[in-house]
Amino acid sequence: MRRRGSSSNPQGVDVFVPPRDYTVEARRRLPAATKRIGPLIERLTLEHPDAKIALSFSGDVELLVAVMLSAQTTDLNVNRVTERLFRKYHHPEDYLAVPAEELERDIFATGFYRQKARSIRGAMRALVEEHRGRVPRSVEELVRLPGVGRKTANVVCAELGEAQGIVVDTHVRRLAQRLALTREQDPVKIERDLMRIVPRADWRLFPHLLIWHGRRVCDARRPACERCVLADLCPSSRA
Ligand code: SF4
Repeated sequence: MRRRGSSSNPQGVDVFVPPRDYTVEARRRLPAATKRIGPLIERLTLEHPDAKIALSFSGDVELLVAVMLSAQTTDLNVNRVTERLFRKYHHPEDYLAVPAEELERDIFATGFYRQKARSIRGAMRALVEEHRGRVPRSVEELVRLPGVGRKTANVVCAELGEAQGIVVDTHVRRLAQRLALTREQDPVKIERDLMRIVPRADWRLFPHLLIWHGRRVCDARRPACERCVLADLCPSSRA
């Protein structure tokens, strides 16, 4: 049974959902998202000046591989694995030069290693055969690589300095909903809503701000509204 003030996600984990009545009331009281977005970004930038990608990499191929490995695991775990991996594999061809089982062993600790190894080898083959060994700079080309979805493509483009969309992961989705920047559930629709209100110059930084705020303050189960710098701009605030 759903408790007032809580809800279960597909994994069955209880997450905080503020009661509908006061959220609706707060939405009416607060300025529109287009008016709040400037102060939200300003405050989060001051609160999390260190907000940036937590994956370690050097160069575009390492970035692509690290992001592909980060599915369903933590950035910390990926960094532990890639510290050794990137000493052994330098170019796309290196991932194709070893048997699939060897790459699987090398990335085993990131989980889903068979699927990830297949995707990485497929993507590396496409880089070699269609992109002269270079990582393409557009989301459209990136999503055509095997195993590369829109989120991965957005992260890669943003980190290469050419953000063409807004990364929507679990933290971005949760905070965008709590802050009433979207009413959508689907990541693609959430991204579309965010792209309408977030200034283009902030497309790269914005998801990092929400991710770090989600990790440090706006926890899925216990948001610390009483010490949140966004409390007066957030319709889900319990403060
Ligand atoms: S006030 Fe802050 S911590 Fe609370 S729900 Fe809103 S964003 Fe999250």
